[in-house]
Amino acid sequence: MARLTGVAGPMSWRWSLPLTIKLQLTLVFGAVVVLASVVLTSALGGMLRERVRTDAGRVLTLLSGNAARILANDLMTNADMVALLARREAVWTAGLDSPEAQRTLDLIQATAPRTHLWVGVADAEGTVRAATGDLLRGQSVAQRPWFQRGQDGPFVGDVHPAKLLATLLPADRDGEPQRFVDYAAPVVRDGQRLGVLGVHASWDWVGEVVDAVLTTQARGSGVEIFIFDREGSVIFAPRGQSQKLAAAGVRMPPLPGGGPAVATWHDGAEWLTAATRLPASRALGDLGWTIVAREPVETVFADVRDASRRALLAGVLATLVGALLVRLAAVRLGADVRRLSKAARDIELGVPGARLPPVASSAELRSLAEALGRMTTRLMATQEDLERQVRERTAELEAANAELGRQAGTDPLTGLPNRRTFDLQLDHALAAARRNGQPVAVLMIDADHFKRINDVHGHPVGDDVLVMLAGVLRARLRESDLLARYGGEEFVALLPGATQADALAVAQVLVAAVAARRSAVYGQVTVSIGVAGAPPGEPVAGALMHRADEALYRAKAQGRNRACVHGEDAPDTAGTPEL
Ligand code: GH3
Ligand code: MG
Ligand code: MG
Repeated sequence: MARLTGVAGPMSWRWSLPLTIKLQLTLVFGAVVVLASVVLTSALGGMLRERVRTDAGRVLTLLSGNAARILANDLMTNADMVALLARREAVWTAGLDSPEAQRTLDLIQATAPRTHLWVGVADAEGTVRAATGDLLRGQSVAQRPWFQRGQDGPFVGDVHPAKLLATLLPADRDGEPQRFVDYAAPVVRDGQRLGVLGVHASWDWVGEVVDAVLTTQARGSGVEIFIFDREGSVIFAPRGQSQKLAAAGVRMPPLPGGGPAVATWHDGAEWLTAATRLPASRALGDLGWTIVAREPVETVFADVRDASRRALLAGVLATLVGALLVRLAAVRLGADVRRLSKAARDIELGVPGARLPPVASSAELRSLAEALGRMTTRLMATQEDLERQVRERTAELEAANAELGRQAGTDPLTGLPNRRTFDLQLDHALAAARRNGQPVAVLMIDADHFKRINDVHGHPVGDDVLVMLAGVLRARLRESDLLARYGGEEFVALLPGATQADALAVAQVLVAAVAARRSAVYGQVTVSIGVAGAPPGEPVAGALMHRADEALYRAKAQGRNRACVHGEDAPDTAGTPEL
């Protein structure tokens, strides 16, 4: 199971980074939407601004054009009326100061009582002979331009401040001193010039025309109309500012291309501005006025600003909603990834029944989970197979090792433990005896004249004798005694708990038992046994074996087929007489 860390490892590594899928998706989406709304808003705002500028400019051009047309029309109507009446001989037949002439003057004033402030007629010398309200009657106007120019033909004079009438007339509607536009024409009777008919029209008239032209909507948007003279000086300004601005030397702002444009005015503010020249005509001449309409840029582009702000707001809302949706998707994705990594961890830890769960948040994740699931199943199967093989091999190896060990410690001919096993067991037995305070004894058993058996009957028979000896000896010994083949035709027996005397008794039984066996092949075989015992508490393996060996030597020396104990004092115990 530990192998599966490779599956869970990279996942948990990626997951532990603070930059989660959720955060990354939200950031990317938010940035894209914000960028898109900023770019779109500024592009649309630019287009909208140009469009609005064109439209508003068109409206301003229309307003200034209308004002110019109405002004020109009024000027021409008045000029025509004055010229017509001046030429009407019936009016002047009874003289310039006749009641008929006076009635005509009053009639002219009555056509526009608020505008035509003074209507009068002067004789050829420039003396006023009749006038509305008798103003200036008898005074000389010989030096006034209208009189001088009016002698030659119909005349319309540019706006100018009142001179002779200044103190006689009320201030204009804005409370400023009156300014006039003059109309004049020669009075002719019988082909003879009698004098000049003149009209002083109040400049208030312009204000009234402008008021009529400006719609309520235009006024609400802050649209204003100015008039500049031929030299570009202010001759009309809204809100009674005409003479003040003229005195301050305010001039018409330059309009590149003549068309509507955003211009910086004398007050430093920016205005969308459009201008129209007063049309010239034969009757009017060219007064050179320019009628200018302007609107503050803040008003003009207010809608554009509002639209941009609304678009940005929509963008922000879209970002928020989008981020929420992305978050929902990312939460689903993240939950699946977390479930996968938890399952991978469980598989790694070997939790029973752990498996990769099915995921539904995305097709890619589903196929990843399925692939991981297949891989896990295969890995687990492979691992179980490997573990089973290892278990089997280990068991086989252990069995082989045990067999090897057994074989290494066993004599192959007789099946008895060999000398190596005996030496090991002897050490253990002596240690146990020391611990328990018990005696222990060994028998050193050697076949007598075995060489002869080999020589006479052959080696295989010798082997049979060795097998026979092993069987006889083993059968006579106790289960707890250890019998081993010590080498060649020698055997040893370890008798735990036996004193030397006990051991001698056992040795004699063994000698007798061997001697009692007779074979048709090799006849009788005898053994000699050396017996050595160790008192409780002090047995030492080397010394004990040595003593047993010496006892065996004595048994041989005393004629074989017997058992001898070690030590001089020990009685030589005779063996079984040779039969
Ligand atoms: P003694 O009574 O003094 O012990 O005389 P012995 O002939 O038994 O003693 P010796 O040591 O002279 O001879 C031992 C013989 O045992 C020599 C050897 O060939 C024989 N022998 C040793 N191991 C084996 C074996 O495994 N098989 C056979 N057949 N003979 C063996
Ligand atoms: Mg021997
Ligand atoms: Mg021998």
